[in-house]
Amino acid sequence: MEYRKLIACHECDLLFCKPAKVTGHVASCSRCGAGMTAAEGADLPLDRTCALTIAALITFCIAQAFPVIELHTSGMTSRATLFGAVRSLWAGDMRLVAIMVFCASILFPLIELLAFLYVLAPLRIGKVPPHFNGMLRVVQFVRPWGMVEVFMLGVLVTIVKMVSIAEVIPGPGLFALGALTVMLAVVATLDLGGLWDICDEIKLSRPAGIRWQKISRRLAGPNGLFRSHKAWSTAFVTARDAGLVACHTCGLVQKHIEDQSRQCCSRCGSVLHERRPESLTRTVSLLLAAALAYIPANLLPIMHATSLGRAEDDTILGGVAYFWTSGDWPLAVVVFVASVVVPILKLVILTLLTVAARRGSAWRLRERASLYRLVERVGRWSMLDVFVVALTVTLVHFGSLAVITAGSGALAFGAVVILTMLASHQFDPRLTWDNVDSKQHVLRGDE
Ligand SMILES: [Zn+2]
Ligand SMILES: [Zn+2]
Repeated sequence: MEYRKLIACHECDLLFCKPAKVTGHVASCSRCGAGMTAAEGADLPLDRTCALTIAALITFCIAQAFPVIELHTSGMTSRATLFGAVRSLWAGDMRLVAIMVFCASILFPLIELLAFLYVLAPLRIGKVPPHFNGMLRVVQFVRPWGMVEVFMLGVLVTIVKMVSIAEVIPGPGLFALGALTVMLAVVATLDLGGLWDICDEIKLSRPAGIRWQKISRRLAGPNGLFRSHKAWSTAFVTARDAGLVACHTCGLVQKHIEDQSRQCCSRCGSVLHERRPESLTRTVSLLLAAALAYIPANLLPIMHATSLGRAEDDTILGGVAYFWTSGDWPLAVVVFVASVVVPILKLVILTLLTVAARRGSAWRLRERASLYRLVERVGRWSMLDVFVVALTVTLVHFGSLAVITAGSGALAFGAVVILTMLASHQFDPRLTWDNVDSKQHVLRGDE
C-alpha cells in the first residue's frame, strides 16, 4: 500500500501531507528544519535542466581535453589536465589516491550527467526510459561523491601555490571547469523526488490526487492507520508511529510489513528500512577507523619535493605554515579549515550525535539536527588537499631541477575524508528524534 500524497521527513521521520503547490517556495520540516522535497512533478523545469545537462556534458569534455594549468620555468613547460593528474599519481605508486581522484573528479560527475540525461530526455516527451529506477538510483548514489567544485578550489589553491616558483598560466580547462562547477550546482537543484512522481503519472496516466482522498479519510481517525491511540494523541506523528515507512531513495511512503525480513520499495525497488540497520555501530566503527587514520594523515608527509638535489618533505600543517609565513594568509586559512578543522569537526560532531542518540538524550534536538546537516554539507571539502597534491605532482616534474611526488600522508588523509563521509552516511538522523517521541508518548499517556 502506497501513500503518494504523504511525505516523511528524511531526518526526523515526521509525516506531512504534500502541499498542493510549492512553486517558488522551499519546504522545510517544522520539527527538525530539514529541507523537504515536496515539488509536484509538473512544476519541475525539465527542459531547462535537460539543456543544462547537455551543456554540462560538453563542458565536461572541454575540461578533460585541455590543460587546466600550465607552468613555465627556466624554459621548461609542464601542463596539468584532470586525467594527467590521475596518471601522475598512478605512475608514482599512489594508486589508491589516483583512484580516489579519478572517481571524485572524472568518473562520478560523468556518470551523474550521463545517467541524468538518460532519464530526463525521455521524461520530457512523456516516456519512461527502460531501467528508469536503476538510473535514478545511480544518480543519487554518485552525487555525494562527485567533487568537481572541490577540485576547482584545489586548482585555485595550486595556482596561488605555484605563482611564487614559476609562471602560471590558467588553461582553457580551468574556465571549462569553472563553468562545469556552476552547471552541476544548478542541475543538482532539480528535485529528484519529483522525477519519480512524473514517472508514476506517466505510468498511471491519471492524476495522482484521486488516490489521496480515500487514504486521507483512513488516516484521519484514531481507528485508522495508527498503531496506537497514544501515537495519534501526540503533536508529532512519525511514519513509524503510523506503521509506515519512507523509501530512502525515492521518498515514497508505504505500509511497513513487519513480518517480512526484507521489504523492497514498490516504486524503485530499494530495500526499505524503518531505521538504518546497525546505524550507530557502523558509524562508531567508521569514526574509530577515521580517527586512527587521522594520526598518520597529519604526521606523514603528503608530498616529497626534490629540488637541485635537496629533498624536502611537506606535511599538511607544514603547508599551512608555509602559506602563512609567505603572506598568503587567506589561503592558509582556507587550507587549514578544509584540511584540519573540517575533519576534526566531523569526528567530534558525529561522535557527539552518536553518543546522544545511543543515550536517547533530548538535549538540544534542533541544534543537533543542524549539526548533522553541517557535517553532511562540509564533509567533501576536506578532499581539497588531496586534489592539490594530485595537481602539484603533475605540474612539478622538471627533471633534475625540481620533482614533487605524493607522500603516504595523502593516502591516509584521503582515507580520513572517505571514512568520515561514510560515517555520516551511515548515521541515521531519525534516531535523534526517536526516543523523544517515545518520551512524549509516555508523558501524554500519563495525563
Ligand atoms: Zn524533520
Ligand atoms: Zn523507493
